[in-house]
Amino acid sequence: MSELLVLSHDDVRRLLRMDECIDLMESVLTDLAQGRVWLPLRFVVRPPEEPTLMGLMPAHRSEPQPSYGLKAICIFPENPAKGLDAHQGGVLLFDGETGILQALLDGSAVTAVRTAAVSAVATRALARADARELAILGAGVQARSHLEAMAHARDFERARVWSRTAEHAQTLAAEADAPFPVEAVDSAQAAVDGADVVCTVTSAREPVVQRAWLKDGTHVNAVGSSIPSTRELDADTIRDAGLFADARESLVNESGDYLMAVEEAGIGPDHIRAELGEVLVDPGKGRRSDEELTVFKSLGLAVEDLAVAEHLHDRARADGAGTVVPF
Ligand code: NDP
Repeated sequence: MSELLVLSHDDVRRLLRMDECIDLMESVLTDLAQGRVWLPLRFVVRPPEEPTLMGLMPAHRSEPQPSYGLKAICIFPENPAKGLDAHQGGVLLFDGETGILQALLDGSAVTAVRTAAVSAVATRALARADARELAILGAGVQARSHLEAMAHARDFERARVWSRTAEHAQTLAAEADAPFPVEAVDSAQAAVDGADVVCTVTSAREPVVQRAWLKDGTHVNAVGSSIPSTRELDADTIRDAGLFADARESLVNESGDYLMAVEEAGIGPDHIRAELGEVLVDPGKGRRSDEELTVFKSLGLAVEDLAVAEHLHDRARADGAGTVVPF
């Protein structure tokens, strides 16, 4: 009989420190660029007429220690109104030599932290070093974790937060535990105006950011849209920016921000400057000048979940954390 480690939402949140997760994401995105981890495009189960979906996100690591991972994540857009995370599911970790299932982790906690950590990696790699003004569009799970992650990315002096429901932005600003003041504002434009780094973390279907609002030299982490039919940035923003992806294959297949800019602004795959991991390996592929607008389009990768599962499996087994069940 084998042993299965189960890490609950609270276990993951306690064990997965943001600063460590940022280092972990930097490491696994470098591994991706150098071929030590591999993933296919995720499989999305989208029943006809259903507002919900399930994403199946497998990944494999070949070295130094082989492993397989699989995140099965359901997205239920109505969940936040019930006080629940819209993302529900689990991350499975399998031994890469025997295939034995080793761990099951709460998928919403992993997703909340690793996504923001990847945006922090992108911000460190692509934003101007002197970035001081932060804008967050959205006030949900990702907005909270992005506020935490951005504090590790640059020395921000101020953050402005906007959300569709003003009260949600006000609550986020009031509850924020950031090393800089966080202020709720009443329009997306007011948040973005003069910002050096913009994080879009909404479930918007239409753009919440217009090119004309962005000043030269801004870096945008576009996180919210993960499907071809929705976007957060207008086509002019994508056209004018140095465009970076977590994975090219994901961008050209899944990103409404990119695909609608292909339609409306005539860009093509050659507009994609690099994957984030490629910039980590060769910083020369990153920002070209202090005036350049840069956009990192995050779709979310299974290798990120795999890296968290490996890390927390090792940590929990060493510390005796989580619940071990015979399996
Ligand atoms: P939440 O449901 O917790 O928050 C959603 C936010 O989007 C809220 O601020 C909400 O505003 C806002 N919003 C919803 N609909 C609209 C709309 N039509 N126009 C403008 N704003 C809107 O979600 P999460 O924080 O968990 O996720 C945010 C987005 O990020 C989602 O789209 C999700 O799919 C995506 N995501 C991407 C990941 C990646 O790896 N790239 C990983 C995880 C999530 P309000 O409540 O104020 O009305």
